[in-house]
Amino acid sequence: MEWPLNIKTLTTDELKAWLRDVDEKPFRADQIQKWLFCQQVRSYDEMVNISPALREKMAKQFSLRALTEDQHMVSVDGTVKWLFTTHDGYHIETVMIPANGRFSVCVSTQVGCAMNCAFCRTAKMGFFRNLEAGEILEEILNVNWYLKDNNIFNEEGEIAQVTNIIFMGMGEPLNNLENVHRVCCTLHNQKLFNMGAKRMTVSTSGVVPRIKELVDRNTPCCLAISLNSTNNEYRSSVMPVNNIWPIEKLLEAVDDYIRRTDNYVTFEFVLIQNITCTPKAAKELIRICAPRRVKVNAIILNDGDDPNLHAPTPDEVDTFLAAVRAAQVQITIRTARGRDILAACGQLAYKKNKDNQEAFERGHSLPDATPMSN
Ligand code: SAH
Repeated sequence: MEWPLNIKTLTTDELKAWLRDVDEKPFRADQIQKWLFCQQVRSYDEMVNISPALREKMAKQFSLRALTEDQHMVSVDGTVKWLFTTHDGYHIETVMIPANGRFSVCVSTQVGCAMNCAFCRTAKMGFFRNLEAGEILEEILNVNWYLKDNNIFNEEGEIAQVTNIIFMGMGEPLNNLENVHRVCCTLHNQKLFNMGAKRMTVSTSGVVPRIKELVDRNTPCCLAISLNSTNNEYRSSVMPVNNIWPIEKLLEAVDDYIRRTDNYVTFEFVLIQNITCTPKAAKELIRICAPRRVKVNAIILNDGDDPNLHAPTPDEVDTFLAAVRAAQVQITIRTARGRDILAACGQLAYKKNKDNQEAFERGHSLPDATPMSN
């Protein structure tokens, strides 16, 4: 049987159209979406002002829960990482990072990734499929459920809720733009999550035409670009996307984005010893950033499988940051969070999906996504 569409994937208008089709009142769409996104119910039965008959129609037509928690791990620093199983047996990861009163969630947008960046763990598993908008929203709802169930409070003394979303988990969000756009619109919707556009950041490896599309669609979000290197030859060697859209093209898209949105762009810059964390690289980064409305988010390499790529020493990092700051370019260093729970993108799901793929290639079917106890 084909897996039913996730009800959270639907826009209000789509839900209204379906209600009309099944002879129900379209205004119910607002009530249903309030249950889904404001009350954040976990089953249709909790929608008490919706008739049992309509609840049953919905349950027949749409899934409400598409992700099963496989495990979650809590770091000593409060970072939590989840491994979810999708309805078709794949594994994806979600990370919640509490910091400075904020509860940021790093969501996956695809199962695996096709971009094949040399330093990235997710790349090693290959690409399986896009996540549905409802599945991405469910990653976020799961975090809210966790905060509620564990009585985690915000600085105002209320039960905490997710405050910021970063589309920086597994996958290339701009290769799943239709669904990412839906997610941002639902999060931004004043009647639903009411999350400001500045609290959502979509990160791309540099899929240039889609950057323009993001502006054309007016997707409510900020933009981050994984620049990682200022040198075409090296960038192409670690990020194949650079062969199609080299740095000049990427910067044209960035300039166009800044001109049309009047927003900052964030450049993510992974610091790799002797490669991107050198005085020369700092100089090149300044040349690119100084004339633009950009901020740099430096990330220390999380050592992966490549024996040629290493994290820089703390002194090398400090020297790099000082050089960039001296040129008045804004740069912050993302401190490593949740190292004890392998919180970096793809580290956990990598192994699980790889096992699945091998089973698949051997002619076996994927393992069942039977619910596991948490
Ligand atoms: N595909 C999107 C989003 C996912 S990657 C993108 O490329 O932006 C999110 C961020 O993690 C990117 O900035 C990427 O450069 C960084 N990253 C990937 N692997 C890493 C590693 N091993 N160590 C540090 N950062 C890494």
